[in-house]
Amino acid sequence: MTTSSFWYEDAGLEKRPRLEADAECDLVVIGSGIAGLSSAYEAARFGWRVVVIDRAETIGGVMTPRTTAHLATALDDYYHCLIDARGKDDARTYHESQVAAVNRIEAICRDEGIEADFTRLDGILVPAEAAHMSDLKKEYEACRTIGVEVEWLDQSPLPLPQGARALRFPNQARFHPLKYIRGLIQAVEGRGGRIHGGTVYVDHVEDDGGVTVETEAGPRIRAKAALFATNSPVNDKVAIHTKQIPDRTYAIAGPVPKGTVPRPADLGHARSLSLRPPPAAEWRRGSADRRRRGSSHRHGQRHGPALRPSRGLDPRALRLVRRGPIPLVRAGDGAH
Ligand SMILES: Cc1cc2nc3c(=O)[nH]c(=O)nc-3n(C[C@H](O)[C@H](O)[C@H](O)COP(=O)(O)OP(=O)(O)OC[C@H]3O[C@@H](n4cnc5c(N)ncnc54)[C@H](O)[C@@H]3O)c2cc1C
Repeated sequence: MTTSSFWYEDAGLEKRPRLEADAECDLVVIGSGIAGLSSAYEAARFGWRVVVIDRAETIGGVMTPRTTAHLATALDDYYHCLIDARGKDDARTYHESQVAAVNRIEAICRDEGIEADFTRLDGILVPAEAAHMSDLKKEYEACRTIGVEVEWLDQSPLPLPQGARALRFPNQARFHPLKYIRGLIQAVEGRGGRIHGGTVYVDHVEDDGGVTVETEAGPRIRAKAALFATNSPVNDKVAIHTKQIPDRTYAIAGPVPKGTVPRPADLGHARSLSLRPPPAAEWRRGSADRRRRGSSHRHGQRHGPALRPSRGLDPRALRLVRRGPIPLVRAGDGAH
């Protein structure tokens, strides 16, 4: 079994040279994952001179190449929980932002001619056991309250527990993240943006005229503004980190017999299990109670061998499919 990402098979990550001398620009972006490159792209479109730096030699991020690449407006952590925590207006705003983000990726693919396999598809949330139906019912009601499109399904591509139903979220999407990243790199550089790998942010100083970013090897970048897109903050080591719990997400994959899974239709919740059988079908299986069931999200875990925790998921994956043995070929993970 390999732990390299599925996406590397047909699109690797590109390298860019280190920043060797001081630079000046309108916007310096720290981090070249999807967040950093998307922001750099939007700024470059408006004529801003952009410099992107990343500590890695390769461009495209650390988490971004490991994603299962579901562009979902359905919420991993449930809209009913978000409403409880923040109220209906914030939940509605959050949902609208997700819809806008997915639409934006679709538009960028179209406008820039990026062949990133962008596909609209349904998201299907499947209860792992009948007891989880109460969560799905709450989620259905919450979605209806704030205007999220959702409907009940009596049948799902994965076998449903006795007496259970699934939720269908139409108009979700999926794409190839590394093909998309390549397209963004071209679009940024095509507008005069500079991208540097192997260039580590260490500090910055703000003044009335802008900001000066210091890099580990010495060169400085003077800019009107700096944007930090490092996933885990490096510019403020207290405000966010003290409020976060380390979380690790795993994805495992293996082939299933052709025709046993419908067209690439379904995904479920991120607190779940994700399989990617070739040629293109995939699904996730939701588990409403990660503490009891275990899941692909592990709270409080720090770095460790990627394969060890995924071993716990393998039997569960095999049990869910119930259509015969699946040789698991891949396990991947990332911390956030
Ligand atoms: C298994 C798995 C499945 C997932 N599935 C989904 C999914 O289906 N849908 C979804 O929307 N999300 C999913 N995610 C989450 C998604 O992948 C991340 O939210 C997203 O990729 C984060 O992008 P980013 O640009 O913020 O971070 P990254 O891609 O991690 O990029 C951050 C970059 O900052 C750089 N950096 C850090 N520190 C410095 C420094 N000091 N100086 C310079 N550069 C620095 C890093 O080298 C890195 O390249 C999944 C994640 C995992 C692990």
